[in-house]
Order: sequence, then structure tokens, then C-alpha cells
Amino acid sequence: MENQRGKGLSFARRIYRPRIIGLGIGGISVLAALYPLPQPDWIWALLLFNGLLWPHLAYQLSTRSAFPYQAERRNLLLDSLLGGFWAATMQFNPLPAVTILSMMAMNNVAAGGLRLFIRGSLAQGVGMLLSWGLFGMHFSSQISALQIYACLPMLTLYPLAVGMVCYQLAIKLSEHKRALSALSRTDSLTGLLNHGSWKDLLHIKFHKCRQQQMEASIALIDIDHFKSINDTYGHIIGDAVLRHLSNELRRNLRHDDLAGRYGGDEFCVILPRMSHQQALDVMERLRQVFNQYQHPQVAELKVSLSIGLAAFDPRFQDPSGWLSAADQALYLAKNSGRNRTASNDSEVKSTQKQMA
Ligand code: GH3
Ligand code: MG
Repeated sequence: MENQRGKGLSFARRIYRPRIIGLGIGGISVLAALYPLPQPDWIWALLLFNGLLWPHLAYQLSTRSAFPYQAERRNLLLDSLLGGFWAATMQFNPLPAVTILSMMAMNNVAAGGLRLFIRGSLAQGVGMLLSWGLFGMHFSSQISALQIYACLPMLTLYPLAVGMVCYQLAIKLSEHKRALSALSRTDSLTGLLNHGSWKDLLHIKFHKCRQQQMEASIALIDIDHFKSINDTYGHIIGDAVLRHLSNELRRNLRHDDLAGRYGGDEFCVILPRMSHQQALDVMERLRQVFNQYQHPQVAELKVSLSIGLAAFDPRFQDPSGWLSAADQALYLAKNSGRNRTASNDSEVKSTQKQMA
């Protein structure tokens, strides 16, 4: 409900300024067309109200309404009704009438698509009937130079204002699209790449390594006995440990290394353009830094990592072959005592640390 109201309010705000411009300068062309015709006094008052006061009243009505979107659509239909009324009252003087009716049609299509266009056209028809009921049905094809000039501001400035609003809307939409696409690639807890997007990048890097004979390694990183951390200290502490590991990954990796959360307490990293030895050093440093973690409220909490590292090998058939080499290395690290880094050349590289 709040969300609906927010959308309605921004719809009303979007229309406010173009309506001030449109009805203000549209009033000039109507005034020029009506001036030579005999009119009762209240017509001038109505024109003044429609051109100068109505945009502000319409804005107040929609923004104060419980349903601003519906209120604003009603305002747009009233705009159209008055547009039809003025076109018939000026006896369909060709240029001002077409200008007003077509600008309103453009407005309705921009604001509510075909549906609002049709409803707006019906409202214009009602406005014309009203005028015919009051003043009779008249048509005039006479147009003076003054009336032509009076239409020029409407013909030039109003499309500019509507175009500007549409452009700003398109920019906002593309920003939202970018943000949504980033969200769909991100793990919400850690802010790292999620499983799917990391695997997509693994595919890309795998083929790059093949084509360019590029050196690269991937690492699977798993927190040791994470289940018992959750069970002993609770999931909030468990989440803090996961976030801490993601922060250490950011701190200890290069800008173009690709870190993701593979799932649960398992993380994954691609280290492109790096020798296997350098990759081992980086992972060892990460493991040691993570070992030092101290939770501010749980001083006795000890954490450690098991890391499986696999260098790219041209004999891998596909990215899953590379991934399963890292998986085997991780299995080796876990089975040979945890808290260590193992690599797919089957050697356990790091010195074993005392487990907590
Ligand atoms: P090992 O040393 O063999 O890796 O054992 P482990 O306990 O770390 O591994 P296991 O796979 O048994 O446990 C992983 C746990 O991670 C189980 C699951 O409840 C927990 N977990 C998964 N996702 C989250 C999360 O987002 N937050 C928290 N706090 N826990 C999670
Ligand atoms: Mg684990």
C-alpha cells in the first residue's frame, strides 16, 4: 500500500511541471483563438483558472489523496475533457484545436499508454458535447497570423518538456535495471558474487586460459567445523564469521581476482594471470590472516580454513574438470587434518596448524 502510494506520488510529481508548462502556454493559443469570438465572462475566468491555477490544484488533489495514482489519472482525464471543451468552444479553429488535442493525446499516451489515450479521447468527446450543449455546434476555418504565432510556444516547448520527462524516466529505469542485475549476481549476506555468476565467470576464464595459454588457479575455501560454530554460538555469530571471511577475501585479493560464495560456508576464487606458487602464497596468507580472527563478543571463538587449490591444466576437458580438481584438493585438505591449503598436484603445501 505504501509502495503504491509512493509510485502514485512520483507519477504526480513527474506530471506537475509539464502540466504547468503545457496548460500555461496552451492557454495562450486558446486565448488567441477565442478572442475574436463573443464569449460570456465566465469563459475567461475558466480559461484563467485552467491555464494558471488548475496545475497547482491538480497536484494538491493527487498528492493529498489516499490513492495519488488514481487521482492523477482522473486529473489527466479532466485535462482532456477541458481540452475538448476549448477545441469546440473555439469552433475547431484548425491550428489551435489540432495543437491542443494532439498535445493532450501525446500526454495521455506517454502517461498511460493506449488505455489512457482511448479514455482521454472519450473525455475530449465529452468536453466537446458540453461546449456544443452550451454554445451550439460551430466550425470555423478562419485563422489569423496572430493565432498561428500563439500556437508556436505550445508546438515547440511542450514536446520538449514531455521529451525531457521521458528521458529522465528512461535514465532512472536503466539505473534500476543495472542495480537489479547487480543484485541478481550478488550473494546478499557477503556481497560477493553468488554461485551462478561465479560459475559463469569460471567458464569465461577457462576458455581464456585455453585460448591465450594464460596461467590461472582456482581455490575452494571452506570454514572448518562451521556447523559447530553455529551450534555453539548461534547463527548470528556464524553470519559474522562468513562476513569476516568475505572481507578478508576482498582485502587479500587483487582487483581482478574473482571471489564468490559457492554456498553455505564454502567460498570460491579465480586467480587469473598468476603462477601456481603465487596462488598458493596468496591462499596461505589468507588462511593465516583468517586464523587471527577475534570476535568482539566471543573471545574464545577460533576459526580456520581448509583450502583446495587447482592450477589450470590444458588437459581439463571443461570448467567442471578444473572445479573438480579444486574439490579434490579441498577434500585432501579436509582429510589430512583441516586448517591447511592443498593443491591439485597432491602435495599438502601448508604447515598444519593446531586446531582449536
Ligand atoms: P567441515 O569442517 O567438514 O567443513 O564441517 P562444517 O561443519 O563446516 O560443514 P557442514 O557442511 O556440515 O556445515 C556447514 C554449515 O553451514 C551447515 C549450515 O547450517 C551452515 N550454513 C549454511 N549457510 C549459512 C548461513 O548463511 N549462515 C550461517 N550462520 N550458517 C550457514
Ligand atoms: Mg565447513
